[in-house]
Amino acid sequence: MPSGVLVVSELDQEGINSTTRELLAVGRRLADQLGEELSAAVMAGSASDLAQTLFSHGADKVYAVSHDLLQEYQADLQLAALEKVCSEASPNIILIGRTLIGREIAPRLAFRLGVGLAQDCLEVRIDDDGRLVANRPVYGGSCMASVTCMGSPQIAAIRPKVYEPLEPDASRSGETVDVSVELDPSMAKVKVVQVVKEESEGIKLEDANIVISGGRGLGGPEPFKQLEAVAGILGAGVGASRAAVDSGWVPYSWQVGLTGKTITPELYITVGISGASQHMAGCSGSKVIVAINKDADANIFKEARYGVVGDWEKILPSFTEAVRELINS
Ligand code: FAD
Repeated sequence: MPSGVLVVSELDQEGINSTTRELLAVGRRLADQLGEELSAAVMAGSASDLAQTLFSHGADKVYAVSHDLLQEYQADLQLAALEKVCSEASPNIILIGRTLIGREIAPRLAFRLGVGLAQDCLEVRIDDDGRLVANRPVYGGSCMASVTCMGSPQIAAIRPKVYEPLEPDASRSGETVDVSVELDPSMAKVKVVQVVKEESEGIKLEDANIVISGGRGLGGPEPFKQLEAVAGILGAGVGASRAAVDSGWVPYSWQVGLTGKTITPELYITVGISGASQHMAGCSGSKVIVAINKDADANIFKEARYGVVGDWEKILPSFTEAVRELINS
């Protein structure tokens, strides 16, 4: 009988990444509601070393798959290891981050387990029958659908940054289950030939407390320098709408929205962005939105707490000065 919630861990240079911590927080809530266990799967060169971090963030049990071939991320090998964990753990619910890795792994895992997948979830909860209900945007973010997965396990890929991680508690402990898996280099059907790290200056968009984004209304790449200047004063990250990215003005890694990054800053400033639903899908969790747009009827003003109607070229210089003075005073 399947039971429990299983979080699929992802790693970065520092170990367990922030998305995994977020999944553990929501996984903890679901597991408590069901009265079941929260476990985490971790696949790495030396996976059991990472167990304590997972316990501290809410896991009761860690399924650790350690293998030399898991030192670097490779989808086919990760998947084989994860499938083995699933067969040992027999979870009722599996939570995966809707990250680049999650987007690659989740559908393939669902296929292998012969079940469906709730993609791009913004919220998950347990209904009265004890089943997982996932809310996800549909029709390009214009509507939300509530979906229930039939069968078991129920798998949801959850968008990063929609849940807050729990405060880590180093005194928490749990059970580590070492899972052995036979892996062979020939199982890797895709070879990573090169990893190119994009050099990024300044604050990481997803982690910034303040973000300033520009859109098509800026008219070209040059004005983004002015946004960067404001960002420098405020200690903010710089983002963009898809229109600005598609125009080649700024890199894709700056894109906020449904097909870009999800951000949840304290303050989000938009300049020359209309506020299309697909853009808002990535920033509606911002605490305060401030918009500069010359069209008083632009949708962004329905979402913004503060708005300035006018040409950004006239407004931004005085806004920058005011911010500079405020910060210096
Ligand atoms: P526009 O909609 O053209 O708005 C430009 C705004 O600038 C206007 O409101 C105008 O009044 C204002 N403006 C013009 N000149 C000035 C000026 N001088 N001063 C002040 N204001 C000025 N979009 C995203 O952003 N992120 C996504 O992830 C994303 N994903 C998508 C996924 C799908 C499946 C689809 C179909 C679309 C997606 N889009 C996304 C595109 C989205 O629908 C919009 O087309 C896009 O967000 C528009 O960008 P924008 O607001 O910069 O441009």
